[in-house]
Amino acid sequence: MSWVTDENKLSEAGYDFIDDDYLHRLMRRKADRAEVRDMIAKSMSKQPLAVEETAALLAADSPELVEEIFDAARRLKRDVYGNRIVLFAPLYIGNECTNDCQYCAFRRSNRDVVRRTLDAGEIRSQVEALLSKGHKRLILVFGEHRRYSPEYVAQCVREVYSIRLDHGNIRRVNINAAPLDHAGYRTVKGSGIGTFQIFQETYHHATYGLVHPRNTRKGDYLWRLDGVARAMEAGLDDVGIGALFGLYDWKFEVLGLVAHALHLQKHFKVGPHTISFPRLRPACGVDLNGSHLTSDEDFKRLVAILRLSVPYTGLILTARERPEIRREVMAFGVSQIDAGSRIELGGYTEAGDSQTQAREREQFELGDIRALDVVMRELMTDGYIPSFCTACYRLGRTGEHFMEFAIPGFIQTLCTPNALSTLMEYLADYGSQETYAAGKALVRSELDKMPEGRRKQELIDRLRRIEETDERDLYF
Ligand code: SAM
Ligand code: SF4
Repeated sequence: MSWVTDENKLSEAGYDFIDDDYLHRLMRRKADRAEVRDMIAKSMSKQPLAVEETAALLAADSPELVEEIFDAARRLKRDVYGNRIVLFAPLYIGNECTNDCQYCAFRRSNRDVVRRTLDAGEIRSQVEALLSKGHKRLILVFGEHRRYSPEYVAQCVREVYSIRLDHGNIRRVNINAAPLDHAGYRTVKGSGIGTFQIFQETYHHATYGLVHPRNTRKGDYLWRLDGVARAMEAGLDDVGIGALFGLYDWKFEVLGLVAHALHLQKHFKVGPHTISFPRLRPACGVDLNGSHLTSDEDFKRLVAILRLSVPYTGLILTARERPEIRREVMAFGVSQIDAGSRIELGGYTEAGDSQTQAREREQFELGDIRALDVVMRELMTDGYIPSFCTACYRLGRTGEHFMEFAIPGFIQTLCTPNALSTLMEYLADYGSQETYAAGKALVRSELDKMPEGRRKQELIDRLRRIEETDERDLYF
């Protein structure tokens, strides 16, 4: 590809650390009740689990042990991470693609999809539509195509950051795009991105080869596996990994994700910022027959096990999932969700309510297309604090998930107050009457729980200023 300037150089950590045979052997292990309980205890004492230890949890399939794992994940979420859920929205910039991933409607051989790349004016109108709903955090999504060079991606990011609408602006832009080389990552970093996400899709080599033809860029397993390591080497501190569940055995993918997280931890002293676990969805022109579709029950298990295995990593649950599943799985330690999402190009201003109208323009079908305001209200009813906080990233505090978890009092003194002030911005500027009422009640009850002192007084003052004046974007 024309933009690859340092000759496809892999990172220092650029070797293939996924041993399929070894992972398969681990998957054949029998459940051992005592070992499962030891692993749960280790996780509750805030220690990451090894791949072999994760395999012990994956082997637990009796209803009793599975319930113990669910319960541990719920406790970890409740007692350690607190009740915040960060909200974001995806913005698809372009679906030109030179790859031919068998599961994706954007693959080059799909003649039925409408190809489109938003121009600067269209990006502006999409972002204004998102701002008018209350969004503050976006992930920009791109196909893999020479048009989407690092310079182009950086330009899109700058464009997004420059847009203001009334009280709103986007405060964090993350990226989901093809892996780059070192120089490419440095260019993109210059635009001030948050997280760079790359999903391996499947860690299983043979399946990877089947769904990604070899004559495409994405057909190179190692180039992709090493993608986030190159990003870290090039100075991007926050990277996200993920697997597309449904291509191969879900247990194998969990082991692959944990191995990937530990590989980054070993080489860079810090693991991935986030893990995503999208499930394969129906898509225009895609045949899902013969795939390893992950059942709801197994999906719940995999989220709970990931929570226990990688305590320092944020978990992202997307709107691919139906509202009921999102609600249930959220309790297992999910830290971020998208809401009010549209994944067809131009969808935030052009989409009707019908999903069928958009099939020729979207990458796959979503399971949850409820408005942001509705999702916010449901979160609060369930006792969560919806948050748009971007404080750590703005103050250069990378590895925030690690700090939340490892530094005593971090959540109480920084995260919760910041979540509440971004929630108050939402309520004051965008909330419907019903959501406003639910939000005010939640803010009151959270304030009641806070210890008296200077921090609480400062927060109360800030919340008042947000409600009564034009002051915004206040964070600790
Ligand atoms: N083109 C870039 C790439 O492939 O890395 C980034 C964007 S791609 C549009 C984002 C992710 O969507 C992919 O990594 C894949 O995991 C997911 N995806 C593709 N087809 C899907 C489907 N049918 N159902 C659910 N997720 C899908
Ligand atoms: Fe292209 Fe990404 Fe879709 Fe593959 S998953 S066809 S690379 S947009």
